[in-house]
Amino acid sequence: MGLREIFRSKKDCGHVSELVKVEPDSPDSCLKCVEMGDTWVNLRVCLHCGHVGCCDASKNKHATGHHKETGHPMIQSYQPDETWRYCYVDDRRVTDADSPARR
Ligand SMILES: [Zn+2]
Ligand SMILES: [Zn+2]
Ligand SMILES: [Zn+2]
Repeated sequence: MGLREIFRSKKDCGHVSELVKVEPDSPDSCLKCVEMGDTWVNLRVCLHCGHVGCCDASKNKHATGHHKETGHPMIQSYQPDETWRYCYVDDRRVTDADSPARR
């Protein structure tokens, strides 16, 4: 049982259990980019307050900027075909199934 706990804690970040359900603040855009008249590549949603921001492949990196501003540790991909989550603090992806993604 000890081993199993260690295994879990290696993959899990402690922040997952703190998550509550949030409403994304935008259905399909990075509002900060819209304000600036800029474009983005992909969207990420903050799992703590629902802030929708653009990913690190985008010029403005608003999702990361949001984390730096607020300290909110976890985001989820906001792409329709992606469900992975990412924790900035633990620097790891967290899958829904809590199992290694096999691709
Ligand atoms: Zn974490
Ligand atoms: Zn943006
Ligand atoms: Zn947030």
